[in-house]
Amino acid sequence: MVTDAHKVAQPLEVRHFIGGEFVDSLDGKTFDSLTPIDNSVVAHVAEGSAADADRAVAAAKGAFDRWSTMSPAARKKILHAVADGLEARLEEIAAWETRDMGKPLADSRTKDVPRAAYNFRFFADYADLAGLHAYDKPWEGSFGYELREPIGVAAAISPWNFPLMLLTWKVAPALAFGCTVVAKPAEQSPVTASLLAEVCRDAGMPDGVFNVVQGFGPDAAGEALTRNPDVAAVTFTGESATGKAIMGAAAGTLKKLSFELGGKSPAVVCADADLDAAVDGALLGVFLNQGEVCLAGTRIIVQRPVYDEFCARMVDRLAQWKVGNPFDDGVRVGPLVSQEHLDKVLGYIELAEEEGAKRLIGGSRLTDGDLALGNYLEPTIFADTHNGMRVCREEIFGPVATVMPFDEIDDAITMANDSPYGLAGMVWTQNLNTAHRLARSIKTGNVWVNCFFVRDLRLPFGGYKESGVGREGGEYSYEFFTESKAVVMKLS
Ligand code: NAD
Repeated sequence: MVTDAHKVAQPLEVRHFIGGEFVDSLDGKTFDSLTPIDNSVVAHVAEGSAADADRAVAAAKGAFDRWSTMSPAARKKILHAVADGLEARLEEIAAWETRDMGKPLADSRTKDVPRAAYNFRFFADYADLAGLHAYDKPWEGSFGYELREPIGVAAAISPWNFPLMLLTWKVAPALAFGCTVVAKPAEQSPVTASLLAEVCRDAGMPDGVFNVVQGFGPDAAGEALTRNPDVAAVTFTGESATGKAIMGAAAGTLKKLSFELGGKSPAVVCADADLDAAVDGALLGVFLNQGEVCLAGTRIIVQRPVYDEFCARMVDRLAQWKVGNPFDDGVRVGPLVSQEHLDKVLGYIELAEEEGAKRLIGGSRLTDGDLALGNYLEPTIFADTHNGMRVCREEIFGPVATVMPFDEIDDAITMANDSPYGLAGMVWTQNLNTAHRLARSIKTGNVWVNCFFVRDLRLPFGGYKESGVGREGGEYSYEFFTESKAVVMKLS
């Protein structure tokens, strides 16, 4: 039976949050936000123009002195109250995350919202404890130390695949280190950023410290943030092509930029791997969140002695994954975020067949009963692929895995690195030397050995090559959201 928990009696009215108030666009424009579950309208959303973005930046600029000079301990108290607020409203926020972009409710409840709350707790505590360097040069009679000052207004522009979790990954450190923020969530999943604004207001955050401007990117609110001279830093997560556009737009005002971009990550499975763990890990690596994951290990590179067995086991296990309404119990794959995105992914499935890949499972739209209304796609595995195929080079961003064989570890390294992207790599082996060798040789910002998606907020997160510029996490976010000042004193 298909649940109707995704339906709303009335579409939600989602407005901008500027200077502590929920407001309409200056020109009154709105757009409809659809749920991918049945493509019905679930929200009417304010469509921000450049003027709305500028208004939000002005509010953030006005609040900067007060927030940046508050003690870290006082900020910490408010940020923990935000985490408390997210946890208190977990069920409501998780349901909106699922309704907005289609991820299984079980994931929204146990991962997205709790991790969003944790982002606030982690950075609230981190900022309170962050230390500085001092350098003594007694032979010259000088003593120097470093000061860190919040950089100013930060714009946080985020994608739709982990709407709240990824946004808070930016917003929490920015606020904790004393910046004020204008957030621009993705137009496909606008609601939870607005709920976060309510939580921040209710947590006692001063007006103007956190602002949300809704709407689109190019020639709209998003682009305006990247051009505004009062925005000191832009932290962006999204497509590599968008990152390039933002770099161009921001050049005129020389902003500090941090980019988390696309990926086409390799998962290397060696013949000595614990095959059951590798099969489950590889499946999770590709099909978690409908494959709408930047880190997704979509290029599964398997050593030849276990290649056939690995493919067979993947197919058997994947056949047990339930696809359907993400509000239903046990569903592991929900609908793709939009009709347009579904068409793009179906286009890649067609292309894979034209390129000669062998389809092992999946590949069709699901159209049984109510599923026909939504954007459901069977998770798909192609075997006998190679890096010359476009489906192995381009980011599909959907539930499509490509599997290819390798002989020697050196071949696996060459194949893993033969990509314009460099976000993540996964290694499955029981040999410590092989694990270290692959971890060192794979040119990606993250390497997981015998696991996937395990995140420690103290570690750097980011990508090589076209997967990003800069790093997020603990001290890396501290460095990004602050200016560093050297103070040198002559001691008599
Ligand atoms: P996108 O680049 O289309 O949009 C991301 C955000 O940027 C949205 O808020 C959008 O409105 C805004 N935007 C678009 N054009 C803009 C412009 N010219 N100026 C300013 N803002 C603009 O990406 P998406 O489709 O929302 O997300 C999917 C992409 O994000 C995939 O490529 C995925 O790999 C990537 N991603 C990367 C990471 C990471 O950590 N590296 C994490 C999640 C998603």
